[in-house]
Amino acid sequence: MDRTIHGVFFMKYTIGVDLGGTNIRAGLVLNNKIIKKVEVKTEASKGKNVVIKNLVSAISSVMIKDVVGIGIGSPGPLDYKKGLIIRTKNVPFKKVNLKKVLEKKFNVPVFVDNDANCFTLGEALYGSGKKHNCVIGLTVGTGVGGGIVINKKIFHGRMNAGELGHTSINFNGIKCNCGNIGCLEEYVSARGIMRIAKGLKAKTSLDVYNLVLKGNKKAIRVFEKMGFYLGVAVANFVNIFDPDIIVVGGKISNAWKFFSKSMKKTVKEKVYVNKNPIIIKSKLKHAAILGSASLVKK
Ligand SMILES: [Zn+2]
Repeated sequence: MDRTIHGVFFMKYTIGVDLGGTNIRAGLVLNNKIIKKVEVKTEASKGKNVVIKNLVSAISSVMIKDVVGIGIGSPGPLDYKKGLIIRTKNVPFKKVNLKKVLEKKFNVPVFVDNDANCFTLGEALYGSGKKHNCVIGLTVGTGVGGGIVINKKIFHGRMNAGELGHTSINFNGIKCNCGNIGCLEEYVSARGIMRIAKGLKAKTSLDVYNLVLKGNKKAIRVFEKMGFYLGVAVANFVNIFDPDIIVVGGKISNAWKFFSKSMKKTVKEKVYVNKNPIIIKSKLKHAAILGSASLVKK
């Protein structure tokens, strides 16, 4: 919000950062709009210090002196109160206090939360969830992230609520690297798709998608099956939260046309609520940057 004190007009600049395993995206945000954006490689394989250096360089390139705070969406699990990344798989952080490191460097308040929480917050504040109270977000890509935003606030439970990708859809299923068995992430993420696509001439989930675009029937069935798996999980989320809306983002959501039908059909069959929620593909560009920027307490 803009503030006027003694007739002087103050602009509230914030920075939002989406820290991913491959890329770091940082945006300078004014009035809920990104006015400058930068993307740099994370270089996760080069270790913690290089990633921090890249993060600092991304923030520096959009930094101006009027910025009042920085919000970071990071893979977790993390302690959002302390700004402490406990451990992550795609970024080589173990007990890294990002808040402390970045506050020391930039001298403005820094707020850290889970990346999928930030995506969902962005959608709830400025995207498809704008007019709704209970918004569930799912990011389907390399992994599956989840976020729960109730009355425009991230629901954390005690600390780490919303790990929807690690809810099980099969107790006799595939072992996940989190220790659980049958995690949603093992069935609908990029590697989940590759599992279903066994026997197809495809090296990546993008190859499978390209086969779908060419009308390959087996490839089409891969996404239908993935939609079914996702639908089983989404039905559970609907039964738990009875949300107004579920927004699906992440790179796999680009195949929406090919998995959403079987997903929605499965949800309809399995839910026990009076009214089906809206289930929609994310349309908001850079929801995670906008969401993380809005972590900054103004
Ligand atoms: Zn898991």
